[in-house]
Amino acid sequence: MFFLSDHKTLINSIEAIGASFAVFEFDPQSVAFELVSCNSRYEDLIGYSSAKALGQPLTTIFPRYIHNPLKEAFIHCKTERIALETEIVLDYKGQERCWRSIVSPIVNSTDKKFRIIQTCVEITEKIVLEKQLNLSMKRFEAVVNTAYDGIITIDEQQNVKLFNDAAQSMFGYSEQEIIGQPLTKLLPAKYQGKHHGYIEGFKRSQVDSRPMQTRAAVQGLRKDGSEFSIEVTISKIRIADNVEFTAVIRDISEKNQLLEELILSSRRDPLTELYNRRYFTELLNAEIIRSKRFKRGFSLLMLDIDHFKSINDEYGHTCGDEALIAFAKTVKNSIREVDTLCRWGGEEFLVLLPEIPKVTAMIVAEKIRKNVEDLKIIYGNKVIKITVSIGLDYFSSHSNEMSQMINKVDQILYRAKDTGRNKVSTEL
Ligand code: GH3
Ligand code: MG
Ligand code: MG
Repeated sequence: MFFLSDHKTLINSIEAIGASFAVFEFDPQSVAFELVSCNSRYEDLIGYSSAKALGQPLTTIFPRYIHNPLKEAFIHCKTERIALETEIVLDYKGQERCWRSIVSPIVNSTDKKFRIIQTCVEITEKIVLEKQLNLSMKRFEAVVNTAYDGIITIDEQQNVKLFNDAAQSMFGYSEQEIIGQPLTKLLPAKYQGKHHGYIEGFKRSQVDSRPMQTRAAVQGLRKDGSEFSIEVTISKIRIADNVEFTAVIRDISEKNQLLEELILSSRRDPLTELYNRRYFTELLNAEIIRSKRFKRGFSLLMLDIDHFKSINDEYGHTCGDEALIAFAKTVKNSIREVDTLCRWGGEEFLVLLPEIPKVTAMIVAEKIRKNVEDLKIIYGNKVIKITVSIGLDYFSSHSNEMSQMINKVDQILYRAKDTGRNKVSTEL
């Protein structure tokens, strides 16, 4: 029917077609495709009535800016005898409209009388949606890849689907290495079972977003096998029957390290680097509790450098500081790892000897005294000598008050001072 019929014959049937539809015929004389017939949807597309458009060539019907792609498609269709699909964009009442144009050769066409059917379907909305989707994808990518936090998405099988730049530098894996791999690659072995259960529980729960446990409890595993502390927030996306999880991950190892350094330095005396009074008090309290529980006592030594003021007076405060550092080292080297030495204040020190009876504590105290006596402190070209007095007592598991204990060794220490210094005293 489309091969020979004219517009009058064709119009009734093509009007019923639910797309813009036209028949063109190739005119060998003018070497142009001329419109034979079209339906009213096509008239709407070209903005022309068929009365005006019939017999007109493509180049008259369509605006100049799409002549080339259209001509190319028509000629290709004619020479190759195949259908061709292209997208055309047309201005329509000031608005851009997009169409999918399909040109196909009419069967029975001859070189003398060659006809083409053009069907156009409007795809403006689809294109706009595609553009919007593209824009949101680009926006999403920009956010994900410039984020300071690591972002990881896993599917229902817990395989990695998205791994942003921050996650790559945190874990040391490139995107290619980790996409499609199980999440367990990023978790230390001891957390893998627990995590699997957690995700399974989260999958079933009605909650869509929740933070995971406490920050210190979560550890990540780098490609090089090292572990690091992370803070994780997971959200769940459900699309039809599929569930995906996206985790936002913050590397808190640096923060934790700083915190640890802060805690450590808050326990130390900056000059001698020994434990300070505050931390020693905590340790002594813990020792009192432990001693009661296991029915094992401990010994306590209080040390005070003899005539220390005269060192400051004679050689200056800096020399006094050097003497304190040397003294602290000497005492530290005279006791066991399990014993605790602290700078109680000024030139006074305390030593806690857990589970050490008085007789053994006396040996330790005497060793300290002797080592201090033998110590040669070099200050410039001078050799400075010091001695120490020590008060010692043993506290059984029945002893109670920490301040009473400390007062007692302090008083015993002053017995050593009163009776000549450079000695260990064990009695009031
Ligand atoms: P004693 O034998 O009776 O203990 O005599 P002493 O001179 O050691 O006793 P005293 O308590 O009178 O003096 C302690 C001195 O320790 C006084 C103080 O200036 C000095 N001192 C305390 N802390 C520091 C410090 O951090 N650096 C220095 N250089 N001196 C300190
Ligand atoms: Mg003193
Ligand atoms: Mg002193």
